[in-house]
Amino acid sequence: MHFDILTIFPEMFPGTLGGGVVGRALNNKIWSYDAINIRDFATDNYGSVDDAQFGGGAGMVMRADVLANALDSAIESSKCKVQSSNKKFGPIIYFSPRGKVWNQKMAREFVNNCTLNFANCTLICGRYEGIDQRVIEEYDIMEISIGDYVISGGELAAQVFIDSCVRLLDNVVHGGNESTANESFEIGGLEWPLYTRPSSWRGRNVPEVLMSGHHGQIDAWRKTQSDEITKQRRPDLIQGK
Ligand code: SAH
Repeated sequence: MHFDILTIFPEMFPGTLGGGVVGRALNNKIWSYDAINIRDFATDNYGSVDDAQFGGGAGMVMRADVLANALDSAIESSKCKVQSSNKKFGPIIYFSPRGKVWNQKMAREFVNNCTLNFANCTLICGRYEGIDQRVIEEYDIMEISIGDYVISGGELAAQVFIDSCVRLLDNVVHGGNESTANESFEIGGLEWPLYTRPSSWRGRNVPEVLMSGHHGQIDAWRKTQSDEITKQRRPDLIQGK
């Protein structure tokens, strides 16, 4: 999977994506990225990428013309990649609190679709108040939110997004598909409680059933725990609701 990331802070990448299983996958070329500095496409001598809002109000907006120059360049340079892979130029995503809220199901669908059909995926990291609306319309951009809160820039959102995608690719997470299929949101709810050695710690013992070696009973216990915790904390996740 390849990501073309448009940002005014290219030095923020790979950031957290350079560590752990996702970082190892980056080194192993299971995924790759190019961080493109939007400021390189500014049209004035100051490298301005933003300007005041039409209609007034606090905060600046990223300019349509500058962002479009960066996008056109990203599209142009991905052409040979697209041709050599016989896959299509992939979706363009803008991270925004106004977008569709990202979840595990969307991540799975996106990764399946992307790996089958697309040579890349272009990500736009907003700053200031956001980007000029006309770019979103002109390039048919998909808006994605990482949750109902506001952060200061799209770079962190892009890293959350990429991490959630990359861990679903083959040979990234230890234990492979079994590991990623047994996690919260994949099992129809939240994960059961986890325990490891020591079996007794500060007077707290690991539930007996987990030490029993009875796989059937262990599975049943985990299922009950998962159902209970999901009912308490996230009733909205329970199927059929
Ligand atoms: N004025 C905007 C918030 C701008 S925050 C509003 O009220 O909706 C600056 C940038 O951070 C945004 O352009 C976006 O790229 C990013 N960002 C902030 N919160 C986000 C979220 N929940 N999900 C995805 N991106 C977000």
